[in-house]
Amino acid sequence: MPDIIQLLPDNIANQIAAGEVIQRPASAVKELLENAVDAGADEIKLIVNDAGKSLIQVIDNGKGMSEIDARMSFERHATSKIKDIEDLFRIKTMGFRGEALASIAAVAQVELKTKRAEDETGVFLEVENSVVIKQEPIAATNGTSIAMKNLFFNVPARRNFLKSNAAELRHIVDEFVRVAMAFPEIFFSLSSNGQQVFHLEAGTLKQRIVQILGNNYNAKVVSVQEHTDYMNIYGFVGKPETAKKTRGDQYFFVNNRFIKSAYLNHAVMNAFDEMIAKDSFPMYTLFIDLDPSQLDINVHPTKQEIKFEDEKIVYAFVQSAVKHALAQFSITPTLDFELDASIQSLDAVSKPFTEENKSSATSSSLYSTFTKKNQAHFVESKSELKHWKDFYEPTKKVSSTELQVDSNETKKDFDFLDAHNSKFETENCFQLHNTFIILPTHNGYYLLHQQNAHERILYERFIAAVDGKPMSTQQSLFPVTIDLAPADAVLLNELLPDLQHLGYMLEPFGNNTFVIQGTPADVVQGNEKVAIEKMLEQYKHFSNDLKYSKREKLLRSLALQQAIKPGTSLTEKEMKGLVEDLFNCTTPNITANGKPTYLEFKKNELNKMFGR
Ligand code: ADP
Ligand code: MG
Repeated sequence: MPDIIQLLPDNIANQIAAGEVIQRPASAVKELLENAVDAGADEIKLIVNDAGKSLIQVIDNGKGMSEIDARMSFERHATSKIKDIEDLFRIKTMGFRGEALASIAAVAQVELKTKRAEDETGVFLEVENSVVIKQEPIAATNGTSIAMKNLFFNVPARRNFLKSNAAELRHIVDEFVRVAMAFPEIFFSLSSNGQQVFHLEAGTLKQRIVQILGNNYNAKVVSVQEHTDYMNIYGFVGKPETAKKTRGDQYFFVNNRFIKSAYLNHAVMNAFDEMIAKDSFPMYTLFIDLDPSQLDINVHPTKQEIKFEDEKIVYAFVQSAVKHALAQFSITPTLDFELDASIQSLDAVSKPFTEENKSSATSSSLYSTFTKKNQAHFVESKSELKHWKDFYEPTKKVSSTELQVDSNETKKDFDFLDAHNSKFETENCFQLHNTFIILPTHNGYYLLHQQNAHERILYERFIAAVDGKPMSTQQSLFPVTIDLAPADAVLLNELLPDLQHLGYMLEPFGNNTFVIQGTPADVVQGNEKVAIEKMLEQYKHFSNDLKYSKREKLLRSLALQQAIKPGTSLTEKEMKGLVEDLFNCTTPNITANGKPTYLEFKKNELNKMFGR
């Protein structure tokens, strides 16, 4: 038998290793931005085309590389950042493994231009499949520009795995924002397909927060700052009134590295305690600095998790620091000197919502949900109904075997026709626990769940709206602006055309801000902002679900979010409307997410239960 072990050729080994570091365009963005930061740049520009699939370029004015270093930088385990094992415990730079450039060169076509201040000329390198294919001296400004083209051009399987441009761009924006947030003293810009998305002048952390997360945080943040020998924490949390229904504006950095930590998030939420509603999320941008020896550096740097030597101390520290900051803010009257005129006028636009408006809006909206709108709906379905009825009329020659081969769906329609044949006693229906509706029928009763039923109705109505006639919009009396986290803004932009069909009139207003010009007639005026935030939050719950299209996720999210909730008392008219609408649905018995909308109880079965 011959020996069978072989060394993999370098380019294959590199491609395999690259898989760990570069999973998608956003991972390359992160690595390149971090290299630019490590190079001491104070100006960093990111350019992407096709969400990074065709081009990712980072231009910095950092220290540049010598000719030899430029060539070396693409080798695996080539790094200027650690020299011996001891250095590992003092890591202050963002990178240190020397894997990023090697990985990038293994899966893209790379062009590097770099020049150090002390050199006359710069170096130009072209690398493909980990091999330098061109090198020449070049006139250049100080710093480095790395352009990677056609990511995964040589690994089609990975290229095919990439998501839509909108989704990949969202990831890129996330990474960009995380780095930009951590280094407010550096100028950052991002342009995508020739359009500038971010232009972030160097400034203070607070300015950076406002630049990125929106003006509504100006004068609405509380400074957090505690210093001890063990660790420091600093940064800002949003005042309780800025808490949103959607997560997003939440950033934790440990030694300037963005991390995700449910544990530390919990510590902050605990500090907010009773100050915000249960289902809302406060903004926070917090930096924790501690001795790198107190961190587990073996956690892979491309992962965003972190392990602290002593987790409990960190938790307690974060919690008390935020609590302390919030307590100070609530006893000291806050004079918002920095509030600028443009924002003041925006605030004035979103007029206070009085109890009076609320009750009138509520009743009118419910009214239209269950009556006005459905009148049209009702007539429409009625005519369809007649048609079905004709079709299944026993006089028509539809043999019973023919009916049986049909799916359950048909059977259900049949039941429904049967039930709808005025055998519902809608005038006798009543509500139980403000959650259920009991609907007597000629031979038993139906028990409806009001939210589930309404979800089904809305879902079908939304489908009809996106496929055909758009829903009517109610113009906002006072257009409200909504400020979103950058990634949420990208998401909302993506959803705009469908939302328009669903009656939402939204206009991008620059800087992750949108103006809400109108909402569907059913949405309570004054709640537009919350409705949209909640919809986005709900959408994100579905967003990892590959089996649904963007539109499907949107429809489900809206249906879930707009459906009347348990605890809402309904008038007789509203109950009737709900029942009629439900049984006019194509699939009345379950919600889009598969929950039952009603249960049927038959008199004879009930009697059986009682031994009769
Ligand atoms: P690491 O950042 O872990 O050291 P990389 O593969 O990202 O590994 O980069 C390899 C080396 O190339 C770095 O250590 C650095 O010396 C050099 N380098 C990379 N990008 C830049 C840049 N933008 N400016 C200057 N030097 C750079
Ligand atoms: Mg690096």
